[in-house]
Amino acid sequence: MSDANLWLDEVYQGVVRTGFRLKRRVFKGKSPFQTVEVVETAGHGKLLLIDGMTMVSERDEFVYHEMIAHVPLFLHPRPRRVLVIGGGDGGTVREVLRHKTVESCVLVEIDGLVVATSKKYIPKTASALSSRRAQVRIEDGVKFVRETSERFDVVIVDSTEPFGPAKELFGPTFYKDVRRVLTERGIVVSQAGSPFYELGTIKNLMKILKAVFPVADAYTFTNLTYPGGLWAFAYASKGVHPVRHFNSARVKSAQMPLQWYNAEIHAGAFALPEFLRKAVGR
Ligand code: SAM
Repeated sequence: MSDANLWLDEVYQGVVRTGFRLKRRVFKGKSPFQTVEVVETAGHGKLLLIDGMTMVSERDEFVYHEMIAHVPLFLHPRPRRVLVIGGGDGGTVREVLRHKTVESCVLVEIDGLVVATSKKYIPKTASALSSRRAQVRIEDGVKFVRETSERFDVVIVDSTEPFGPAKELFGPTFYKDVRRVLTERGIVVSQAGSPFYELGTIKNLMKILKAVFPVADAYTFTNLTYPGGLWAFAYASKGVHPVRHFNSARVKSAQMPLQWYNAEIHAGAFALPEFLRKAVGR
């Protein structure tokens, strides 16, 4: 077997390479937006890739999806309506719907190929997309937020990096629209990238959030799959502070079967390393 069949190399920013030992290449398809692939690896389960970038690995996707969903949902006093933008693999929706107060989770994913591929090849991640509380809309999240008259308690931006269709999801106009669709104690969290490789993106995003929301901050997690391990989410709200207003008893009483998120991890995730604290402007 040639090396290309033995290893999948994800090259990131042309400076770092992550190799995953392959068992087999499962799927490759092209949509009008991007190339979508699924491979089966020897050590990380199946991977979903978009344009050669690893989005999800079955081995550690629980980390990312628990951290993007449970931080805002255990903070909002009573989350009932949630909007997820991007997130076509379904992992974020699965975690959101663990919260019994959530009556409806609208997923707005621009690429139907991502949803179809995830349902077929990573069903554990995509399991909640067919829940009666989930509503999947295949359209541009930027346009949806600009035009919708619906209101949401929590908005989760689970997007790719700021290029292609995701570019405007990192801009001021989008976040002014997010502020409009959030209810009065609304919270938004967004995939913000690597503090090591994309500190500029995080800085810009924080500047935009601080200009639009009274509360803006960042939190981190570490995982196996993304380059450098350490990864960040941006947090903003109309008044709910991510640590001061966090009631750890809610997590304990929810008795949710989780693998990463817990009350200590919630508080600790907002303790930032000094270079990131400065970049976030805290
Ligand atoms: N966890 C991954 C990460 O951290 O990079 C993201 C997962 S999810 C697969 C990212 C999704 O965002 C992709 O399916 C992509 O199609 C979607 N996306 C990008 N731009 C979008 C837009 N403007 N509206 C809706 N979905 C968008």
